[in-house]
Amino acid sequence: MRLDKLLEQEKIGSKRKVKALIRSKQVTVDGQVMMDESLNVDAALQDIFVGDKKIQQQTHVYYMLNKPQGVVTAVKDAQYQTVIDLIKTSDQRAGLYPIGRLDRDTEGLLLITDNGQLGYQLLLPHKKVSKRYEVIVNEQLTSRDCEAFAEGIVFSDGKRCKPAELIILSSTENKSNAYLDITEGKFHQVKKMFLSVGKKVIYLKRLSMGPIQLDQTLDLGEYRSLNKEELQALL
Ligand code: URA
Repeated sequence: MRLDKLLEQEKIGSKRKVKALIRSKQVTVDGQVMMDESLNVDAALQDIFVGDKKIQQQTHVYYMLNKPQGVVTAVKDAQYQTVIDLIKTSDQRAGLYPIGRLDRDTEGLLLITDNGQLGYQLLLPHKKVSKRYEVIVNEQLTSRDCEAFAEGIVFSDGKRCKPAELIILSSTENKSNAYLDITEGKFHQVKKMFLSVGKKVIYLKRLSMGPIQLDQTLDLGEYRSLNKEELQALL
């Protein structure tokens, strides 16, 4: 939003008064005097002051949750606890919803916000937002599997997945551990990809989504607000 519009909206004064404040060098953005009233600013990401008054724009909330198993990715559910139920009442906002979906038995990174536009942007297929999952399967993984994932897995119904990167971390006859990087979000995508090469996923955790990495200090069920750097990378 333009600096002058923001200050008007935050009731600093009329258009004329805001202009006068800017011209008289009373407005700073990230510590620098700002005399360009048309500058695009964001009070969620920048420190904006008029004199010694900080502009605290009413903005959206953005949380990262370390989703535990057993909780459904929904706003409301008649049977199960939802990811929104894990957010404290004091952090709740109207319109809070999870961006994308993790299965009930999947753990890990889930972004939760009241900014509908962000979810829409992140989930657009052509944006190809990359997601990393940690996966344990009940079989040996081999370089042939990596090749199959790189070529693009085809599901039994003929649907083709985009090329994905499988990184094997350890592999034995009845248990293997890997990272999988994908750029789409089909229903049960990871589990179905492994089934297509004859392997069953027995543990699944999302570690990243676009530029956001799961904060490893968050216990399962814990969440925190995204920090300034994370927001800058995301918005
Ligand atoms: N793929 C799956 O199969 N399940 C998830 O929860 C996420 C991706």
